[in-house]
This record gives sequence, structure tokens and C-alpha cells, in this order.
Amino acid sequence: MKHQTNIVVLGGGESGVGAALLAKKNGASVFLSDRGEISAVHQAELLAAGIAFETGQHTRAQILQASEVIKSPGIPDTVPLVLELVAQGIPVIGEIEYAARFTQATLLAITGSNGKTTTAYLTHHLLNAGGIKASLVGNVGISFARSLAEGDEPEVFVIEISSFQLDSIRDFRPRLAAILNITPDHLDRYNYDMAGYTASKMRITMNQQATDELWYLAEDEHTKKGLATTNVKAQLHPISKAAIMDHRLRLADGWLDLNTTQLRGRHNALNALFATGMAQALGIGMAVLQEGLNTFQPVPHRLEPVGEVNGVIYINDSKATNVDAVTYALEAMTQPIIWIAGGTDKGNDYEPLFALAKNKVQALICLGADNTKLKAAFADKIDTIRETSRAEDAVQAAFKLAQPGQVVLLSPACASFDLFKNYIDRGDQFRAAVQALITPNLTTAP
Ligand code: ADP
Repeated sequence: MKHQTNIVVLGGGESGVGAALLAKKNGASVFLSDRGEISAVHQAELLAAGIAFETGQHTRAQILQASEVIKSPGIPDTVPLVLELVAQGIPVIGEIEYAARFTQATLLAITGSNGKTTTAYLTHHLLNAGGIKASLVGNVGISFARSLAEGDEPEVFVIEISSFQLDSIRDFRPRLAAILNITPDHLDRYNYDMAGYTASKMRITMNQQATDELWYLAEDEHTKKGLATTNVKAQLHPISKAAIMDHRLRLADGWLDLNTTQLRGRHNALNALFATGMAQALGIGMAVLQEGLNTFQPVPHRLEPVGEVNGVIYINDSKATNVDAVTYALEAMTQPIIWIAGGTDKGNDYEPLFALAKNKVQALICLGADNTKLKAAFADKIDTIRETSRAEDAVQAAFKLAQPGQVVLLSPACASFDLFKNYIDRGDQFRAAVQALITPNLTTAP
């Protein structure tokens, strides 16, 4: 194992703190620097572990002393400090790359524009249901590095990995890798260039060898383009939409039924094809897979029903932060929709939503600090458009407009940072506002 003595961690979020704890545990001298704030919980952890850190600034001279720098995925490669480190020949890697050095477990990595969290949760659930000790880490919940720092030793790490995290791997080699789909997202970080974003996703397979497996969606245009320009050594496992029929899945040796599960929508059938396929490749049998699907609890904030008022169903899809996710959400609705959308636009092209909006959306309620682009895009497609800047006001506006038999759908197509802490905060506020409609006196209690 390579041993680095002088580690600098940039960014004090979940992955940065995890990396710092792991480096410290492995005997490195560690300094963590965050130009913003570090949460009280994370500061307490760093203090308890005896890890030096700074907030509100980057002390350049100290950072340039590093033998290796672990950079949080939120910091772009183009910031001056990172450029300077690279220019000086100091390796800058990500937390996933670093953590992978410290485990012999089987690595199963899942990327894609949409469905990563759902598929990672489901895969993790299926493996454990089949008696394989698996841990779920990465872009969701607990970081890979933290898990290792805490002494976790599973047989399989199921790792949700974003394109930003893939941008800072070097030797990371998953035994099983999945690219669920590649659709426009985060283009603001890739010079508004799909090819750059696609290349970033393809990095998941760049260190794979002939004994490894790459699972991907056969019909996905950008994945096809990516594969055509990548030298893939791994065994190819295409997943095809043709294997889905009446919400049932055709696997190599039989059928699995999703009608007995809580997984709804065509997108979840695709996610389930990936999860069951990979679990099967790791030795889980059909009966256990079906049972595991039946007992799977969907992840919150993804098409999550949160209540019904006056015959109107309210659905929280706050995690739909790009156009493709919203396409699936609008498609999945069988009733006319009061659609709540908006937030921080990441370079969206709303065109794929136009036909669905015309056919299914009764009213659009914008929930963003600046709704100009969204309003302009849908002005001639949706008759009723309202503007709000609080979740509670959006829900009130929806409540006034919605007729029995309709559905109120929060599926924003945008990030949440203009008005909320994150998508979870946005979804939680939405859920609370709906709860307040159901039991109004709760909100007036002290
Ligand atoms: P990620 O972790 O990649 O953001 P999530 O599972 O959290 O994925 O889902 C994000 C959003 O995308 C949700 O709105 C969800 O309903 C939608 N979604 C989930 N799976 C897919 C898929 N395979 N294709 C398109 N959209 C999906």
C-alpha cells in the first residue's frame, strides 16, 4: 500500500472529513482546509481526531507543502489553487480514489445522470438479502473513506459515484461498474459540452480489466457515443429496455415481477434491471431477488407520495434536479398535473418536456429566485403560470388551483441552492406544507 505522509484535504464536507479521518488513521499528517464554513458536527469530529484544520480561507503556503491533496468533488479543477497544485506536480485526487487504496473488498460502482441513489440502495438491499455483507457508500449518506476509517469491512462496497467524483480518480478499479444513463446535467461544470460530461462518466471503466464487468443501458445515445470512443477492457453487460414488459423484468434465467413491489415507473424498472443483474452476477438467486424487490422501501424525495387533500395527491420529487428526471416523472403521472418546478438552472434545455407539459400539465408553479427562463420556456405551452419563492406558498398556490383527481408534483428540473439548503430541505419543506394542509392546526402549535 502506498503511504503518503503529508495529506492536505480541501473541503470539509462529508467526503473531506471522511478522507481526513482515514488518512489520520493510516498514520499520515493531515491538514484540512475549507474556504467556506465547516459544520459544527464536522469540526467536533476533526478536533476529536486531532486533525488540524482551517475555515474561511486556504493558507496557500501550507497547502503547497502537501505530498498529496484530496479534493472534495464540489471544488472544480479550474480554481486557481488546484491549478497551482497541479502545476507544481502535487497529485490532486478525490476521496474515492484515496479510500479505494485501503480495502480489498469487491467494489461495485454506480454512476449515471439519474437513478444512482435508487439503484445503489436497491443493489445494496438485494446483496444483503442474499447474505452478502454489503455497505452502501459514496455520493449518498456516508462517504467511502469514513466507512473505512470506522473499520467497516464488508464483502462488497456499493459505491454511488458522481461525475465530479469520477473526475478525480486515477487507479480506482471497480469489479462491477454501472453507467445507468447519460443525459444532460451539470453542464455548467463541463463547458456546456455533453462530450466532456460523457467522457467523465466513462472514466468509471478506465481501469477495469477483462475480469471486470461494465453494465450500461444499450439504448442510451450518449452512452453509445461514449463507448465508441473508449477502449473498454471489461466484459460488456448491456441492459435493454426490451427486457421490461408490463412492469416485469426478463433476466437471463427467468422473470421478476415489479407489480408486487413499491417500485413505480419505467425508470425504476430500468434501475431494477441493473440492480438485479449485478446482484445475480454476484451469485444471488432469482427467488431471493424477487423477495428482495418485494421488501425494498423506496428512497424519499424520489416520486414520493406525501399526502392527499380533497382528492388531490401530492408527490415530492425534489431530487429531480435535471430535465430527464422530470421527463420520467411527468410520464409516470396518470392524472392532470399541477407542476411545481424551478430553482438554480444548470444550463437546462426544456425542449424534451414541451409535449408532456402541453398534454398533461394544467398549471406551472415556479419555485425559484429567478424564474425568467422557466417562464419563458413554458409561456406558450401551459395556460396558468404562477411565481412563488417559498415551498409553503407554492403548495398554497397548488392547493388553490388543483381539482379533485389531479396531482400536485414537485419535480423541479433545477438545483435547490437559490432558496433552500439542498434538495432534501426543499422536499422536507414541501412535505411539511402538505402536512399542514392535512392537519392545519399543527402549524399553529408553539
Ligand atoms: P441520482 O442519485 O442519480 O440523482 P436518484 O435515484 O436520486 O438518482 O433519482 C433522481 C431523480 O431521477 C428522481 O427524480 C427519480 O425519480 C429520477 N430517476 C430515477 N431513476 C431514473 C432513471 N433510471 N432515469 C431517469 N430518471 C430517473
